[in-house]
Amino acid sequence: MSAGVSTQQRQREMAAAVAAAAATSGAGRCRLSKIGASRRPPPARVRVAVRLRPFVDGTAGASDPPCVRGMDSCSLEIANWRNHQETLKYQFDAFYGERSTQQDIYAGSVQPILRHLLEGQNASVLAYGPTGAGKTHTMLGSPEQPGVIPRALMDLLQLTREEGAEGRPWALSVTMSYLEIYQEKVLDLLDSTSGDLVIREDCRGNILIPGLTQKPITSFADFERHFLPASRNRTVGATRLNQRSSRSHAVLLVKVDQRERLAPFRQREGKLYLIDLAGSEDNRRTGNKGLRLKESGAINASLFVLGKVVDALNQGLPRVPYRDSKLTRLLQDSLGGSAHSILIANIAPERHFYLDTVSALNFAARTKEVINRPFTNESLQPHVLGPVKLSQKELLGPPEAKKARGPEEEEIGSAEPMAASASASQKLSPLQKLSSMDPAMLERLLSLDRLLASQGSQGAPLLSTPKRERMVLMKTVEEKDLEIERLKMKQKELEAKVLAQKAEDSKEKENHCPTILRPLLHRTVTVAKPLKKAVVMPLQLIQEQAASPNAEIHILKNKGRKRKVESLDAPEPEEKAEDCWELQISPELLAHGRQKILDLLNEGSARDLRSLQRIGPKKAQLIVGWRELHGPFSQVEDLERVEGITGKQMESFLKANILGLAAGQRCGPS
Ligand code: ADP
Ligand code: MG
Repeated sequence: MSAGVSTQQRQREMAAAVAAAAATSGAGRCRLSKIGASRRPPPARVRVAVRLRPFVDGTAGASDPPCVRGMDSCSLEIANWRNHQETLKYQFDAFYGERSTQQDIYAGSVQPILRHLLEGQNASVLAYGPTGAGKTHTMLGSPEQPGVIPRALMDLLQLTREEGAEGRPWALSVTMSYLEIYQEKVLDLLDSTSGDLVIREDCRGNILIPGLTQKPITSFADFERHFLPASRNRTVGATRLNQRSSRSHAVLLVKVDQRERLAPFRQREGKLYLIDLAGSEDNRRTGNKGLRLKESGAINASLFVLGKVVDALNQGLPRVPYRDSKLTRLLQDSLGGSAHSILIANIAPERHFYLDTVSALNFAARTKEVINRPFTNESLQPHVLGPVKLSQKELLGPPEAKKARGPEEEEIGSAEPMAASASASQKLSPLQKLSSMDPAMLERLLSLDRLLASQGSQGAPLLSTPKRERMVLMKTVEEKDLEIERLKMKQKELEAKVLAQKAEDSKEKENHCPTILRPLLHRTVTVAKPLKKAVVMPLQLIQEQAASPNAEIHILKNKGRKRKVESLDAPEPEEKAEDCWELQISPELLAHGRQKILDLLNEGSARDLRSLQRIGPKKAQLIVGWRELHGPFSQVEDLERVEGITGKQMESFLKANILGLAAGQRCGPS
């Protein structure tokens, strides 16, 4: 097959269509995806075009005038069989008369929807009508008059080559699958050995056929290489089964995959269904028997369900009977789903087609009312999401992980490229997996989600479950890891400081006066004002401090207004137990205490915070909430800024904790 149309002309038309669409709708690469969109996608009615073929027998027409005729580019009329004085009038999105060319139909009704594939949206073209009315001619055509399929493929491949060229933000790839539904069996035309395939739906409502062959195609020659033998397969079958080719629904599925080359590494998938439906037939008229009758029964049954689906959608019924036939299950996306759909109803002018023509026109008129809601099918690339899937499975263990997997993941897992990337991600260490994430992207999505929620958005969250949960989990894991790393570094730093301090202390020991407070070497924390006194503290702690060779806490005995300084080294007189004790502490130690409090305030969980004196569950929550809202505390006094904590409370909190924490640090195992 060769498409005998001017490639350059079509490219120009295509480019113009894309530019016009982008200018009018603002649609481009920045569209929000369904998974990202919080609002219901805007409606797009199923478009309906009617094509009237010419008389196929050149001599007919003069003796047998047509029973249908066009009125203008959108409407037609047909004789009313109930009343010969009247005609029945129909209006559609487009009407193509007997003189219309293949290019007219393609450029007028099909080409404009192809651009949506590059936005990651789905599109469907369905040829409907009675047998012999020109469906196959419209969809496939002939080498001299190529139809919708070769024209669309040629344009799409050209467009994806341009859009996916080196240096452009997205890499594009195209694959094709080709199947037929024959007697309610889904048969893979690219793999004649395959049996009846199952149709499934993933959690996002996408229709999938596991095991269906997908051939990558980069050129029209590639497409022909796969498509022609598959079509010949059908023709062979047709000879054997007597016109089987027109006794089945033929579905060509073309997928356009886009992968963003830079962060946030989004991926989009647009699916194009090009469907040549089997013709409906009245068995009483055709006199079908045996196998033909059975075939016809299956065709009519599926077309009958198709009609019921359209009616249910138009009437807004709660149940749409998609599952009642394989055809409607497959078309779930195209009718009442997420695709930009166009139905081309083919009709014939001959009188003996009259009843079939009326029936096709009535079906077309009902289909015109069906509303679809196309959205961009966008997600993160598997190498971004893969690690988390894996870690979730690791967390859950094999049986739970299997249970937790949605149908989507099952399907994706079976597809070759996905399987390859999954195995690649399994080879990564957990740290590598985390480092392969893009936290900026996660943060952006999460904050956008929060923003939408704060604006009272009613729609699905931007990161809908389970993707959202994965994202949040990824972020938490990453943050925890960073925190652990930071704490380890800090611990090492403190260890080094303590060692240096010890060395320095032993050097200066000889000149050391026990009552004089010395500054710490390598002091880094100087935020605290030198607090000379701190009331309190458990006696046990004081004794521990006293036992410390480098004690920097000195007890001040308070006797009324008089104070007498005593070293802790001196034995404590028993009769002074009832006195009020105060402590004199080195400023450095206090600074350490403050720093520890500050660290806890900034890094501690609500539970950690509750371990502090004067902090109950409510205050702990208030602190955590403030921190999330305003960022880290720059000094402990900022605690006053937390709503519900007064200045007094802050001071008493400080007093109650500072010494304990400072002493804990100095005397602890570090
Ligand atoms: P269907 O697929 O609906 O059964 P076909 O596409 O096989 O019908 O068309 C039946 C016959 O009519 C074929 O010989 C085809 O070449 C011819 N035909 C259909 N439409 C046209 C048309 N628009 N112009 C010329 N011939 C046509
Ligand atoms: Mg046909």
